[in-house]
Amino acid sequence: MRNFMNNLRNNFARFMYGRYGLDQMGRFMSNSLMVMLITSLVLSLIFGPTVVGQVLYYISLGLLIWMYFRMFSKNIYKRQMENVKFLELQRKYGGTFVKKWAHLKQRKTHVFFKCPSCKLKMRTPKGQGEKHVTCPKCGTQFTKRT
Ligand SMILES: [Zn+2]
Repeated sequence: MRNFMNNLRNNFARFMYGRYGLDQMGRFMSNSLMVMLITSLVLSLIFGPTVVGQVLYYISLGLLIWMYFRMFSKNIYKRQMENVKFLELQRKYGGTFVKKWAHLKQRKTHVFFKCPSCKLKMRTPKGQGEKHVTCPKCGTQFTKRT
């Protein structure tokens, strides 16, 4: 049995030799397709066949095929370029999404405002009444209702 497992591992290693494998883009695809697959499964368990469930199922299937295609691809340069582009997009949109989400979560407990002179963004906990604020960047003093 151990020999068999070793053989299997060796064969797989030989098969993967010179192929691209899993990068950040591949991991992202595999995570999102799992989420979509589980969502579609839960939807179908609760509501039976729904359009949304079907669409999610086919998108995750497509992602799965695309992910394996990239993993087993021998055009390593092209796949690396895709990954670079993906990381750029992730930095650009993922960052703003995470920031927006944090912002949204804090809106119940914090007040957000800008410095009237240099427009620096600041926040302070809610419910302190009139608060005297000194801008940490330009030193402008103003009051803010919280
Ligand atoms: Zn300022």
